[in-house]
Amino acid sequence: MNLILLDGGDFVDDDRVRLTDPRRTKHIRSVHRAQVGDRLVVGRLGGAIGQGTVEEIGPAAVALRVTLDQPPPPRAPVLLVLALPRPKALRRILQHLATLGVDQIVLVNAYRVEKSFWSSPLLSDDAIAAAFRLGLEQARDTIAPKLQQARRFKPFVQDSLPALAAGRRCLLAHPHAEAPCPRGVPEPIALAVGPEGGWIDYERGLLEAAGFTTVSLGPRILRTESALPTLLGRLL
Ligand code: SAH
Repeated sequence: MNLILLDGGDFVDDDRVRLTDPRRTKHIRSVHRAQVGDRLVVGRLGGAIGQGTVEEIGPAAVALRVTLDQPPPPRAPVLLVLALPRPKALRRILQHLATLGVDQIVLVNAYRVEKSFWSSPLLSDDAIAAAFRLGLEQARDTIAPKLQQARRFKPFVQDSLPALAAGRRCLLAHPHAEAPCPRGVPEPIALAVGPEGGWIDYERGLLEAAGFTTVSLGPRILRTESALPTLLGRLL
């Protein structure tokens, strides 16, 4: 936890918070080993970051006086169209995407996404928010990616994607493409990343018709977990 993320409900006053949940209080006590008077980096979910001075620290609660006067770090101007990963990977991936500051995520269905993945409890709003939280605390950020779920690929690509992708450089990641993935793209990006089994030709056809160019990182086939940071590191 490189930043203590605060919610509206933590505030007892404009500049005072009282934390009572075990996750944050325990972390402040055991990892930061904080004492009265120590300063911690804090941020308000969706808002500014700054410092919190410990005013009180006990087994059940930590009280901080906070000054929130800095903007969170800049976002990565990326719309990620991501074929729904298997639940075990999803939680970690969402966490990493929040850490990397990806602006917008659409989890899409694809032919090679197993139907059962869509019933995972990890797709609930609460589970997604919890994964983002961990990623934000890591990055010292306060703004979670915007996330939507599109369970029907074709209507999403044909009806919704054009507006979302307008003004962006649109790239489809596929290990078997000839064109190399570009580096340091200056404009906003829309990036489509496939499922474990890869995109099928039909899906690539629809995305290409929507303006996406198919690009590769080379012949090594990466897991989504490795492909995403590699693609983003190269593009941004
Ligand atoms: N077995 C699949 C690979 C799926 S990997 C296949 O052969 O197509 C999951 C996703 O990660 C891919 O759909 C692609 O979007 C991305 N990816 C993995 N390795 C990549 C590479 N070398 N270049 C570009 N994208 C890659």
